[in-house]
Order: sequence, then structure tokens, then C-alpha cells
Amino acid sequence: MSVFDHPEFDQHESVHYFVDEATGLRAIVAIHSTALGPGAGGTRRWVYNNDAEALTDVLRLSRGMTYKNAVAGLSFGGGKAVILASDDAPKSPELFRAFGRFVDSLGGRYITAEDVGCSVDDMRHVREETAFVSGLPQSGRDAGGDPSPWTALGCYQGIEAAVAARLGADSVKGLRIAVQGVGHVGLHVCKLLREAGAELFVSDVNKDNLELALDAVPATVVQPKDLLFADVDVLAPCALGNILTSTTIPKIRAKVIAGGANNQLATPADGARLAERDILFAPDYVINAGGIISVAAEYYGNSSEDDVRADVGRIKDRLEGIFVQAKETGRPTNELADELARRLVAEAR
Ligand code: NAD
Repeated sequence: MSVFDHPEFDQHESVHYFVDEATGLRAIVAIHSTALGPGAGGTRRWVYNNDAEALTDVLRLSRGMTYKNAVAGLSFGGGKAVILASDDAPKSPELFRAFGRFVDSLGGRYITAEDVGCSVDDMRHVREETAFVSGLPQSGRDAGGDPSPWTALGCYQGIEAAVAARLGADSVKGLRIAVQGVGHVGLHVCKLLREAGAELFVSDVNKDNLELALDAVPATVVQPKDLLFADVDVLAPCALGNILTSTTIPKIRAKVIAGGANNQLATPADGARLAERDILFAPDYVINAGGIISVAAEYYGNSSEDDVRADVGRIKDRLEGIFVQAKETGRPTNELADELARRLVAEAR
């Protein structure tokens, strides 16, 4: 597939393809913008049907990181990596070291961390080959480590903001909330919601993760194909993207959609479809910035855990601002967030 003519290309600064024969590693790194700092975003390891699908994913994710980092006020541009998972390239320390050498060859224009399919442990192996990585094990009260609890905290507080704006609820207590995907982010979100008294409905395509979640929180299991359409107050997508489409949106019963997954909208027009149905959408890259806030604090090494907590707390304020603006103007929340992000990047150029 042509890169320059790709519908998601959006003037990426660079796109890099890497192959390592010894480990079978095939990876793509996309750097969307370095206007605000080095392109930063995690590495996703996923089984793609082909490399065109992987390219589409990495381009969409990388642009999303530009927007996310800008709106979160970080000194980071946008970038992302995907590793094409296959039986010929099993997970191993050597594979992540090879990936680390590729990241290093970019000379700091791209900073990596963990995303779907990668762990803190994998990033330790990347670190053996490059300093351009964050999300590593930390000790004491230093900022950093696994970013997903921070992502989950921002999502939980964002859900509070969204239910206040749309339902007039002063907490999630007693609300019915469906969580799609109970992996790193989704499980933490479930724990926070449950502690606050929400009634949970969960789905996951991975049975082990589902069992872990059910050991941790009481919840009703819903089949993955039905979860989006559950009779709930809030839908919290915490799996993969492209789930809010012209086909799914008419069948959604939740009044609020607020969760950690990246790129939930298939297209920007789907944000308008949600607004038309009076479903309040928390723009994903605004609500899920907690992890990258922690990654940035660790990378730049100038913040404590308390600073990160305070910064993550500002996500809720940002969302409240967007929700108020959406109410006043009648415009979709995703449009307002994109407009803000593009303005911040343009001002930095
Ligand atoms: P993860 O791999 O730990 O968890 C994802 C879970 O979703 C897995 O358990 C997987 O089996 C499940 N899943 C996949 N497809 C599903 C489907 N159709 N229905 C139900 N479950 C499904 O990943 P994660 O780190 O928790 O990330 C989740 C999402 O949040 C991703 O979109 C990721 O890009 C985004 N995100 C993560 C972070 C972070 O800090 N980890 C930060 C920002 C955004």
C-alpha cells in the first residue's frame, strides 16, 4: 500500500519499516509530528491480517498521540510503533532488544513505551539497547513504571465528569457501566468504578483476562458481540479502536461513552452521529492521557508520583471544559478536541 497516498497519512514526518531476520521481528514506527517534542507513543504488538492493516493502525495511532500529547500539555510530539505478531516472531527478550536497536537508530525522534500486547518487562529489554524508552520499572515514589493504572485513573475521573455533564449524577454510585476489555487499563477502571459503587458489565475475548477480572470485582459477563449495545448508563471502551461506526452507533443504548481505548471513532463523522443521538462522548485521547503523562514524567525525570497524580487530575478539568463548550455550541466533542489539538500544534511550529 502506498504510504503517501494513504487516507490516514496526514502529513506524517516519517514512517519507518524494520525487519530483523534473526528474531523474525517486523515493525513499523510512524512519527506524525515533532513540533512539540520527540514523537512519543507506545508500542503495540498485535496480530494483523497484513502489513497494510498494521500501517493503517500505526498512522491513526501516531496522529492520535500528537493530539493527545498536545492537549495534555506535554513536551512530546506524536509517534507510535506496531510490532506485527506472528508464530514466526514469538515474544522474546531478543525480539525486544532488536526492536530497541531500531528505536535507537531514530536518534531520539521517537520515544517508545508499552501499549497493547507489551509489558513493563518487554520495555526493560528495549532499554538494554536504547535510552529512548519509558514505562520501565520504578522504585520508591519516583514517577513512572506501568502507565496503565494512571490511564485508568484518568478514565475513571473522566467518567465522573461525563456522568455529571450528561446525567447530572454526582458520582458513579448505582450507575450501570459496561467495560469492553479488561486488560491492563480495563481491569483498573473496573476496580475504581466498583469501589465507587457502580454496577459492572464486562466482556473480553481473552478468557484468562476475564477470569482475572471476575476474581477482582463482581461483574456480569456479557458476550463480546453484545457489550456495545448493553442496556447501561455508561459504555467504557477499554479494548481496541474503530468500534463506534455508522453501524454500531444506532444500536448503542448508553448515554455516555467514556473509556481508555485509542481511536474509538471509526471516522470523525461518527462523533457527530453520537452527538445527534445525544450520547456524550469523551474524546479518547483526552480521557486516556494518564499513561503518557506518567511516561513523560519518567522520561524527563523531573516529577514525583504526586506531580503525576495532580497532572492526571487535570484531565477531568479539560473534559469538563469540552463538555461545556459542546453544550453551548451544539458541536460534537471530538471536533472541539481536534480543533484544540491542531491549534496547539500549529502554535508550536
Ligand atoms: P491490554 O492488551 O492489556 O488489554 C486489552 C484487552 O482488550 C485484552 O484483554 C483483550 O483481550 C481485550 N479485547 C480485545 N478485543 C476485544 C473485544 N472485541 N471485545 C472485548 N475485549 C477485547 O491493553 P491495554 O494496555 O489495557 O490497552 C487498552 C486500550 O487502551 C488500547 O486501545 C490502548 O491503545 C489504550 N491505551 C492504553 C494505555 C495504557 O496505559 N496501557 C494508555 C492509553 C491508551
